[in-house]
Amino acid sequence: MNQNPIPNSFRSGPDEDGRFGIFGGRFVAETLMPLILDLQAEWEKAKTDPSFKAELDHLNTHYTGRPSPLYFAERLTAELGGAKIYFKRDELNHTGSHKINNCLGQILLAKRMGKTRIIAETGAGQHGVASATVAARFGLPCIVYMGATDVERQAPNVFRMKLLGAEVRPVSSGHGTLKDAMNEALRDWVTNVDETYYMIGTAAGPHPYPEMVREFQSVIGKESRDQMMAIEGRLPDVLVAAVGGGSNAIGLFHPFLDDESVRMIGVEAGGKGLDGNEHCASLTAGSPGVLHGNRTYLLQDSDGQIKDGHSISAGLDYPGIGPEHSWLKDMGRVEYVPIMDHEALEAFQLLTRTEGIIPALEPSHALAEVMKRAPKMGKDEIILMNLCGRGDKDIFTVGKILGMGL
Ligand SMILES: *Cc1c(COP(=O)(O)O)cnc(C)c1O
Repeated sequence: MNQNPIPNSFRSGPDEDGRFGIFGGRFVAETLMPLILDLQAEWEKAKTDPSFKAELDHLNTHYTGRPSPLYFAERLTAELGGAKIYFKRDELNHTGSHKINNCLGQILLAKRMGKTRIIAETGAGQHGVASATVAARFGLPCIVYMGATDVERQAPNVFRMKLLGAEVRPVSSGHGTLKDAMNEALRDWVTNVDETYYMIGTAAGPHPYPEMVREFQSVIGKESRDQMMAIEGRLPDVLVAAVGGGSNAIGLFHPFLDDESVRMIGVEAGGKGLDGNEHCASLTAGSPGVLHGNRTYLLQDSDGQIKDGHSISAGLDYPGIGPEHSWLKDMGRVEYVPIMDHEALEAFQLLTRTEGIIPALEPSHALAEVMKRAPKMGKDEIILMNLCGRGDKDIFTVGKILGMGL
């Protein structure tokens, strides 16, 4: 991978310092550096070790339920009247989203390193639940840092984590959201160096996390590619995925990056609109800076203070973005667009009624973009969207907004 860059390829990064062009890297306190280098050394060994891959494949199949289906959304396609719409059904995974793909990979790595304590950060709680799940499965204690605001608005997931045996530590610094939880987890890691493994939930953070998480999530794109070839005999024309930190999107996109015919759209949380501060569109409306150990596009003010974004979905509420996406944006390989809260809410309802699938609010953003594009495309064209999470966690939020008396 990084040792053997492929010429003229979008798939060869990062370099050995973890850079994707000017993005990425390893901006961490000196005390963290030995930990990061240990992790990197173990990851380099694991990724070429057939027994590591075999164990992960086995868990993906028998624990998560992979491969997830590739589903032709016939009624939705007819309703929108244009391109054929396919969903990669990662919402059917154990624990209800793509997060488990990454957590299984990382817990196997933690085990190889002899770590005995797992820490994680979480926003909506999906990564917290997936972390608590794999920690239970492997018998390790797990501490999840979660912004105090999120603890309140994602109560069902907090309850799940506790049932799974994890300790949830509310973080009330800042606005009590994902960025603050991640700061606190990094602080814990520096303090408890020897026994602790930090399980990051998205393709961000210092090197090697962005590459590592991408590799664990690339199972989405690899399966999609094979399934699409089996069903349609060709590659899709457009890929669409929601972008929070960017892990499900890079997992879908990466195996297709060198296929010129495939367009890719990453959908950011446009919140209440890009004019004010109530959005989380770091790529569309942010600028490059350093956060959580890497250089990437961020929501920041002119003094470099990180702004707290807003989205109807807590899972997209991150003021940064994985560094590989920043690079892909600047290279022009992937387009990034915002979708507003109310558009996501409409998409949520449309999918529920036409296909009988209740999506999470995050992929509802991706779906809203599909709703804009599909009608303008030909009936022989194909859109593949990653349906990366189910909506069980969001029914209370949506019910409240729709005034359904929940
Ligand atoms: C966490 C989450 C996201 C955002 O994270 P990415 O790293 O951007 O994938 C999106 N959708 C769902 C369902 C999530 O749980």
